[in-house]
Amino acid sequence: MSGNVRRKTSAAAMAEEEEEEVIATSSSCCCGGGDGRRKEKERRLVKFNDLPEYLKDNEFILDHYRSEWPLRDALWSVFSWHNETLNIWTHLGGFLIFAGLTVMSFMGKLDELGGFLTDLSRGQASGPLMAMIMKNNGSDFNVSDNSLVPDHHLRRIPELETGSEPIAQWPWFVYLAGAMTCLTCSSLSHLLACHSKAFNLFFWRLDYAGISVMIVSSFYAPIYYIFHCNPISRFLYLTSITVLGAMAIVTLLSPQLSAPRYRKFRATLFLAMGFSGTVPAVHGVCIHWGHPHVFVSVLLEVIMAVLYGAGAGFYVGRIPERWWPGMFDIAGQSHQIFHVFVVMAAVAHSLATVIIMHFRQGTPSC
Ligand SMILES: [Zn+2]
Repeated sequence: MSGNVRRKTSAAAMAEEEEEEVIATSSSCCCGGGDGRRKEKERRLVKFNDLPEYLKDNEFILDHYRSEWPLRDALWSVFSWHNETLNIWTHLGGFLIFAGLTVMSFMGKLDELGGFLTDLSRGQASGPLMAMIMKNNGSDFNVSDNSLVPDHHLRRIPELETGSEPIAQWPWFVYLAGAMTCLTCSSLSHLLACHSKAFNLFFWRLDYAGISVMIVSSFYAPIYYIFHCNPISRFLYLTSITVLGAMAIVTLLSPQLSAPRYRKFRATLFLAMGFSGTVPAVHGVCIHWGHPHVFVSVLLEVIMAVLYGAGAGFYVGRIPERWWPGMFDIAGQSHQIFHVFVVMAAVAHSLATVIIMHFRQGTPSC
């Protein structure tokens, strides 16, 4: 690893390098004299080998670290280049996507999106598999839950007139809030964990807790809508994932349980949370067998799992920086790729959920 660290041969070159490493922020450019020099020194980016032990995480990212910066400077560094800039902005970008979905939901545009996605799915459903499903079950995208009325928009009007309850929106908003919480915690952690050892411990625990919140909240809407007519299953699934999530959050926020000896327990907890989704997914497909909405939705969930898996592969393998240490310090490192995959997976899950909501809104009575 040390052989990859760039060497400077003259004092002039070293001075030039130091100058380059000082971040040009708006505040530093107007400070003069000794005070300004001290501030600039505080904001200097450092190499991996110069980091305190608690900040050393990825030895293949060699340079451009912020180390123990003052809080104000760490906050402002969201607008400057260092090796966490794209980690912060990839999840801030994800936050904006979910904020946009929230605004769309409040404006009542979600049903239009659901209709558009259903139409799109119908257009894509001309493949041999979907043709076989429809042939075997005699079902169509507009026919669901034993109804023979050909269009859900037409069907919903008499149902509303006969006093059927509108489908609750809160599980969808729980998911949006969970996703935005996770992405905010992640962005804040990448922005501020460099400040001090205490901040480092706190923010990475908060990041893991945010992930737990997102996993739990992502179960709510699909389970609520798929098992709308099976209240016992719905209660059991929602209770189980909530208890698992609460256990994960308590574990990850507790200093005692975040000790290295509990690492296996924590890993098992995350795996259990993720894989517990397979049970309601298989159950949901069984009770709605033949409904193309459910198949398309489950297909999107499989895409979500593949995206998460691919992202985790980059993250765990620290690819590509392990092959070319130092080349991806600013852009292209594994953690940034992992973040992008997480956002794409969350978007795939959102589309799956919108399709299921649209399906359920078309058939609000059991
Ligand atoms: Zn991250």
